[in-house]
Amino acid sequence: MPKLQVALYWAASCGGCEIATLAIGDKILKLAEAANIVFWPVAIDAKYADVEKMPDQSIDACLFNGAIRNSENEHMAKLLRQKSKILIAYGSCAYEGCIPGLANFFNAGSILENTYIDTASSDNSGKVIPRTKVTVPEGELEIPEFYNTVKTLAQTVEVDYFVPGCPPEESTTWTALEALISGKLPTKGTVIAPAGTAVCNDCPRIKHEKKINAFHRPYEIIPEPDKCLLEQGLLCCGMATRGGCGAPCPQANMPCTGCYGPVDGVRDQGSHILTAWASIIDSNDPDEIKKILDGIVYPAGYAYRYSLPDSMLRRARVNP
Ligand code: SF4
Ligand code: SF4
Repeated sequence: MPKLQVALYWAASCGGCEIATLAIGDKILKLAEAANIVFWPVAIDAKYADVEKMPDQSIDACLFNGAIRNSENEHMAKLLRQKSKILIAYGSCAYEGCIPGLANFFNAGSILENTYIDTASSDNSGKVIPRTKVTVPEGELEIPEFYNTVKTLAQTVEVDYFVPGCPPEESTTWTALEALISGKLPTKGTVIAPAGTAVCNDCPRIKHEKKINAFHRPYEIIPEPDKCLLEQGLLCCGMATRGGCGAPCPQANMPCTGCYGPVDGVRDQGSHILTAWASIIDSNDPDEIKKILDGIVYPAGYAYRYSLPDSMLRRARVNP
C-alpha cells in the first residue's frame, strides 16, 4: 500500500499542538510506517514554495493547527486546502479560535497600540507601529496584514474534520491519526472525540446538588480532593464541555476551562457555561446575586476562552 502524504502546519497558535502531535510517543513509529511527512515547517526544512509546486490534492491529509489571525495564515489555509484531499482543523485554535480569538473582544488598532506603545515595557518614543509595507533604501519590506477579526479555519476554507483540545490529548490525536491510517474515516464534518458526553461524565469527583455562595479563583482555595470543584466555588466548565479528554484537569485539582469545545447539539459553549454557573447561585436577593457574580473576574473571557470566534457573538462591536 502506498504511503500517505501528510502535512502539518502552524498558523496563529502557541505551538502546543505541534508538541501534542509528538505526545503519541512510540506510536509515531506506526505513523512513520504509514505516512511520509511532506510539509511540517516546525520540524522539516520545506518552504512555502515547495507546497506551491505540489499538484493539487497531492497531500492526503493536512493537520492544520492555529487560528486565522493574519494574511499569511489565510494564504496558507487556502494553499493547503487546495493541495490536500483532507483538511483537519487540529486543536482548539483552528477549530474554534481559542486564546488568539479572545482578541475579538478588541480591535486590531487598539491591540497594536497597546502592544507597541502603551505597555510599561515599551520604549517607543516615536510611537512606531508595524505597517504592512515599508520602503527602506534596500527596497520594499512586507509583513502579513494583521486582521481586525480572528477567524477559525472553517470560517476561511472548507474543513473535513475537527480535532478538539488545547492541545488535543494524546488519545484524541491518535484516534484521528488511526482513522487516517486505516482509511476508516468518520462522516465529513465530525469532531473527532467521543460524542454525546460532557467532561463531568468522565470526572471521578463526587457530585451533589450544586449551590454556590461564592466563586473562587484556583489560587484562592485548596479544594477538597474528592468533591466536585464547582460545588466548592471553582469555575469549572466540565458540564458544558465535550468529553473525551479523560478529565485530566479536575483530577489535578484544576477546574476544566472548556478546551474540548461544546458538547454535541450546543451551538454556543460560552452561553451554556454562563447559564450553568448562573443556575447554581444560592440566593434570590439581587444584591447578594450581584456580589456572588462579582467574584467571577472577566466572565465573558472565561466562558468564551476557547470559542469566541466560533460563537454566536464572534466578536465585540468596536470601531476598527
Ligand atoms: Fe464536572 Fe468539574 Fe465537577 Fe468534575 S469538578 S464533576 S468536571 S463540574
Ligand atoms: Fe480541556 Fe477541560 Fe479536558 Fe482539561 S478537563 S483537557 S480543560 S476539556
